[in-house]
Amino acid sequence: MPDIVDITIIGAGVVGLAIASQVARQHRKVYVAEKNETFGQEQSARNSEVIHSGIYYGRDFLKTKLCLEGNDLIYELCENYGIAFNRCGKMFVAVNDLEAEMLEGLYKNGTDNGLPLKMLSQKEMRQLEPNVRGIAAFLSPTSGIVDSYALMKYFLDKARGNGAHIIYKSKVIGIEKVSGGYEVRIDAPSGGTVFTTRVLINCAGLYSDRIAEMAGINIEEANYRLYWGKGEYYSVGGGKNRLINRLVYPVPEPVGPGIHVCLDVNWRLRLGPLFHYVEKIDYKVDDSRKSVFLQSSMVKALPFIEPSDLEPETSGIMAMLYREGEPVSDFIIRHEQDRGLPGFINLIGIDSPGLTASPAIARYVSQLIDEVD
Ligand SMILES: Cc1cc2nc3c(=O)[nH]c(=O)nc-3n(C[C@H](O)[C@H](O)[C@H](O)COP(=O)(O)OP(=O)(O)OC[C@H]3O[C@@H](n4cnc5c(N)ncnc54)[C@H](O)[C@@H]3O)c2cc1C
Repeated sequence: MPDIVDITIIGAGVVGLAIASQVARQHRKVYVAEKNETFGQEQSARNSEVIHSGIYYGRDFLKTKLCLEGNDLIYELCENYGIAFNRCGKMFVAVNDLEAEMLEGLYKNGTDNGLPLKMLSQKEMRQLEPNVRGIAAFLSPTSGIVDSYALMKYFLDKARGNGAHIIYKSKVIGIEKVSGGYEVRIDAPSGGTVFTTRVLINCAGLYSDRIAEMAGINIEEANYRLYWGKGEYYSVGGGKNRLINRLVYPVPEPVGPGIHVCLDVNWRLRLGPLFHYVEKIDYKVDDSRKSVFLQSSMVKALPFIEPSDLEPETSGIMAMLYREGEPVSDFIIRHEQDRGLPGFINLIGIDSPGLTASPAIARYVSQLIDEVD
């Protein structure tokens, strides 16, 4: 490890890797420090793998802008580089009058964001999804599914190909501002290291508020405090995965999109995620919540699902900037120059649709780095 590097990225999740692939190039020393044994073991490996369309938030949200751009970029990458994906589309369904009203609001928000949505008649709904029940529905044709592991592997290979170094089992434990950059202290089983980096990019996901704090930012004043939302999934067995042709979603809930159909590129069917806030990392799925799944709008929309088809499966924990009852926050992607930290770029609260947005986030951050250069 050299004493001085150009760019250090903390975290090898999909966001850190996408940025590394974008900024690595000849004559630039780029390092990615990851505390785990390999890449993508946290949020990026434990999500719904949905390529979102950009429907949920207003036009002025960075989340919307980067999701719309990321949606296009992901399909382009998948087509050009053999990353498994399925542009299967998504049907949003309402199962009662209240949801039908909310569905209209969601449809309007999506069309305001420029999405090619299509409201469906009952006949069209039955033709597209004969096994789905609902009183109103619309189609989002630009939604899809991506193999998140393959996407990360693509970013990793591209970053390495352009000369970036990914150092695993390397936990960042200290950051100090020094002349010309930041001194980064790393704890590793083989012994710790200290080096200086000109640019430091915080992509530490669930721990990105702690990294900001390490660099001297008061996270309460900055509103960078993260809360952890745990989303649990149930697998649906019994060959029922063949009874639907696309993603099926309810109208969104205050925290998250609501329990929905998750399909991976091999058409494995799951329901989830059911979200609640947690204080510690524990991915065990609590089977006592099965009744919530069985009473969900999604199970009402998919009457072919029997209680015995549902088995507790995986969970994922998301880095969120808001608590229950609080309004949804936008992504924070910020060059902290005005806090006296030139060359320090924070990415905090990169929750959903962070997977979809990852290639667009990488472009955005690359422009911020050009400001430093
Ligand atoms: C249940 C769930 C469902 C979701 N569904 C979708 C979806 O369908 N579509 C979508 O677009 N998005 C979805 N998301 C959001 C998406 O998964 C995240 O936005 C994305 O994975 C964030 O990537 P990341 O690289 O920022 O974070 P992570 O993947 O969490 O990566 C952060 C990395 O930083 C490392 N790190 C942390 N601290 C340190 C340290 N001190 N030193 C070194 N390394 C450190 C961690 O080990 C980790 O590898 C979902 C998220 C969850 C949890």
